[in-house]
Amino acid sequence: MEPALFAKRLLAALAALTLAAPASTQLHIPRPQAERDMAKACAGRDGWGDPAPPAHVYGNTWYVGTCGITTLLVQTPGGLVLFDGGIPQAADLVLDNVRKLGFPPKAIRWILVSHEHYDHAGAVAELQRRTGAKVIAGPNQASILRSGKHDPSDPQAPLLAKAPIKPVKVAKTQAHGTALVAGGVHFTAWATPTHSPGSTSWTWRQCQGTECRTIAYADSASTISADGYRFVDDPERVKAAHQGLKVIAALPCEILVTPHPSASDLFPRLSGSQPLVRPDACTAYAAAASKRFAERLARETVTPK
Ligand SMILES: [Zn+2]
Repeated sequence: MEPALFAKRLLAALAALTLAAPASTQLHIPRPQAERDMAKACAGRDGWGDPAPPAHVYGNTWYVGTCGITTLLVQTPGGLVLFDGGIPQAADLVLDNVRKLGFPPKAIRWILVSHEHYDHAGAVAELQRRTGAKVIAGPNQASILRSGKHDPSDPQAPLLAKAPIKPVKVAKTQAHGTALVAGGVHFTAWATPTHSPGSTSWTWRQCQGTECRTIAYADSASTISADGYRFVDDPERVKAAHQGLKVIAALPCEILVTPHPSASDLFPRLSGSQPLVRPDACTAYAAAASKRFAERLARETVTPK
């Protein structure tokens, strides 16, 4: 084989190797101890805009958010997928973390969203502008993301009116139970309208060496509202919230990650002081939220308007 052709083949083989290499070989990015120990790095800080280092989650999935709000980055052979962006001011922090992991921001090709509130979707328009990524909306998110105006049926609507999100260009909507296939990885969208009308959970499979696991980015499941709102007066919303909890409980789910990291004890789990993998994590997460919701409904029933 002539030398030029040999070099070309070698480069092609190396490129294929990089794509096909087990995830463990892709983890040799130098990281100081503090970056591996998220619990320590964010100790006493859980602000939505408090900078956090990037941290490895599992396989080719990374945490690139702040101490208070989750943003996830997934490397696929077809480009990077980003979940959420945090508050508007977090766009720089997220892109800094992406760069720290050795990825150029322009390699982000898709952005997916958990729910359409300011603290998770606030930075998406800016991230889209700076990366050129396509935003794929969850089953009931597109109109809110496009307009930036909140759904009036959201129990937090009066509060959200004070924190509109910058309108986002939505490339398409992913229907419930269907998957965006990005670089061969299937990201399945699940409508879980418990916390907000557009609440969406996403699941995907990741491998690390010979071991493969399903990551569930299960959306917030808290049933909170603006003052004066009563779920008991809004049967449609109650039905939607229960339906969302049912879907979350049944998600394929071995590694649970939530938009607020504390809701799934994410940092102690990333730092190794609690198990990262827990096959009943989503069931337990939904059960705890169902219990709180039942308590709220009971309180509203006995409290006169
Ligand atoms: Zn929210």
